[in-house]
Amino acid sequence: MNRPRYGPPDASKAPRFTGVRTFARCPQVSDAEGVDVAAAGIPFDTAASNRPGARFGPAAIRDASIAMRPFNPALGVDVFDRLSVVDWGDIETTPGNAERTAGQIAEQLEPLARAGVKTLGLGGDHSVVLGELRALAAASGPLALVLLDAHTDTWEDYYGERYFHGTPFKRAVEEGLLVPEQSLMAGMRGSLYAANDLVDARALGFECITGRDLASMPAKEFAEAVHARIGDAPPFFSFDIDFVDPAFAPGTGTPEVGGPSSREALDLIRALAGIEFTGFDIVEVSPPYDTHAGTTATLASAVAYEFLSLAAVADG
Ligand code: MN
Ligand code: MN
Repeated sequence: MNRPRYGPPDASKAPRFTGVRTFARCPQVSDAEGVDVAAAGIPFDTAASNRPGARFGPAAIRDASIAMRPFNPALGVDVFDRLSVVDWGDIETTPGNAERTAGQIAEQLEPLARAGVKTLGLGGDHSVVLGELRALAAASGPLALVLLDAHTDTWEDYYGERYFHGTPFKRAVEEGLLVPEQSLMAGMRGSLYAANDLVDARALGFECITGRDLASMPAKEFAEAVHARIGDAPPFFSFDIDFVDPAFAPGTGTPEVGGPSSREALDLIRALAGIEFTGFDIVEVSPPYDTHAGTTATLASAVAYEFLSLAAVADG
């Protein structure tokens, strides 16, 4: 088998902390030829309703991602032996304008999606997912969403703004980018604005597993629910870091206590091995609210590694 064209340098020759910081120490390229997975930073955070700072998420995740080693023992796969992985650099965004930024993201990611490259978005607040979904749906047709998040992000608007970090999945359904009947969101918790907040997401067609129901659900059962749900639609996996309890992920825009641990989150992701996702993202990492140890960014990098592992398993 040929070696993948792109990947990290051999860590036995120079320590992993050496080199210019790119995602997983992989080369930064701008040509989709020979690329299996492209990680793209999406530094945008002015659609956040509470704490800002996610514009610095991509840099923090890249910093933490130097720790990735090739072999994932939990899934039994050598990620960088199987996949050609690159850092696509950062998407150009417009601070203060989420609607324009969604268009920029879609425009810049669509060529990758059309070339059959799996995209891994590094957010950014959750508004950025709309642009990602536009790019992937343009290439693959309407998508099945798998969302782990403390929130449904299906609001109509915030303060009159329809492009906001709490609204992207409502917009995505309106634009025909998602098949809600083949999509599943899980982990919702925390106080709501009104009793019918989750009802609204379900009325759009989404399956919505609350954080409390998910807590008593083995990862295998969650995986069965996802398999049963997504059917033949190309799946996209979106991971809002606030899905995890703020004890493990404090550096985020809208923390909600009472969530799963980082280990539980990783187990849920690994349980989805075998599904071929068209793309992934990790959003809402806000380094200014993180610990000095980079707790949240370290978890986000670990989630990214599991995403790469899912892609590697699906590739084999
Ligand atoms: Mn979210
Ligand atoms: Mn959230």
